[in-house]
Amino acid sequence: MKIVDLKTTPVTVPMEAPLRWSLGVERGTTRTILEVETDEGIVGIGETYGGAATARGLQSLKEMVAGTDPFEFEKTLKKLQVFCISYETFVAPHVTAALEMACLDIVGKALNRPVSSLLGGKHRDTVPFAAYLFYRYASSDGKGGEDSPEKMVEHTHALVEQYGFDVLKLKGGVLPPRQELRTIQLLREAFPDFQIRFDPNAAWSVSTSINTLRRMLDYDIEYAEDPTWGIEGMGLVRRDVPMPLATNMCVINFDQIPLAVRTRCIDIILSDVHYWGGLASNKRLAGVCETFQIGLGMHSDRELGISTAAQVHLAAALPFMSYAPDSHYHHQSDDIITKPFVYRNGAFAVPDGPGLGVEIDREKLARYSRLHEEEGEAGEFLDPYRPDWIPKLPLW
Ligand code: MG
Repeated sequence: MKIVDLKTTPVTVPMEAPLRWSLGVERGTTRTILEVETDEGIVGIGETYGGAATARGLQSLKEMVAGTDPFEFEKTLKKLQVFCISYETFVAPHVTAALEMACLDIVGKALNRPVSSLLGGKHRDTVPFAAYLFYRYASSDGKGGEDSPEKMVEHTHALVEQYGFDVLKLKGGVLPPRQELRTIQLLREAFPDFQIRFDPNAAWSVSTSINTLRRMLDYDIEYAEDPTWGIEGMGLVRRDVPMPLATNMCVINFDQIPLAVRTRCIDIILSDVHYWGGLASNKRLAGVCETFQIGLGMHSDRELGISTAAQVHLAAALPFMSYAPDSHYHHQSDDIITKPFVYRNGAFAVPDGPGLGVEIDREKLARYSRLHEEEGEAGEFLDPYRPDWIPKLPLW
């Protein structure tokens, strides 16, 4: 079997209400949908984050990918990496991750087996997700508006009622630390038996992290995620606060793991089906974490249905992953697959159809492609209510 063509479609799907975090506002999700055609008529689908630049990155690989065998993607990936070095271009892991996703979809369809089987087999039929809780601006149709601890608890009750979650993740770094601490206190009182995790996306200094997380110890926190910036900062916090620390900011590639292990600055690494380089790479990450007694969770960056399917297949195939993955799915107003995922008891069923087990809804793909063209993506994270505000945390 040979790949004969790649098709890329950037899309933008709005959030139900704008989500606030330490770097600004998530008003929607901009993704690139990939379709990989083969000479045998099988089309594989993939998805990754980013819009026009991501699509250009994928298209730049077309010449190298054409004629390769989707069953042998790891060989192709090595060639792509050499190509990127030799031509002084850069194709990020989240770009090749979409290619791998589509190739696994092709292989699964060719063999009539789900992707979870290609990853070694599923260890569970459903994957529970965390209720991702954001302070939100109000939408024009009256949704959102959670700007206080009390309103966040009310919102959480509604999500738990509607979707059946029993793990809560509060996105912080938005209100003053005392109010976010108060939110955690109220959530713990309202949901005494739930796991509760907290993620201010590195908005806090080391001293604020130590002082606030020490007070948070009273509320039985599953983990604090990236309270402060960098391996050094996280190590200082970890030294003074006996609370598990997780990251999807300071350890985001294999090269950073040895230092993280030596310093023990974190307890849990959040995998990601995109920036860790794809599903095979995530399986390698799981092995490293298991070896060094580092916990494994899963990050979310506003996945639509294709990437959500990849998340679910991967999580089902990783028995070592003991933390419920994150997902923005319940915040998104729509999806571009024909049968969107449905939460049952806070979990998604592992698709059992061939490949990823999901199919593109052509009408919705066209609709959200038009929206991407109309809205662009330059201001994706900008805060429309605070146009002069910029985040103060160091980015690079
Ligand atoms: Mg995070």
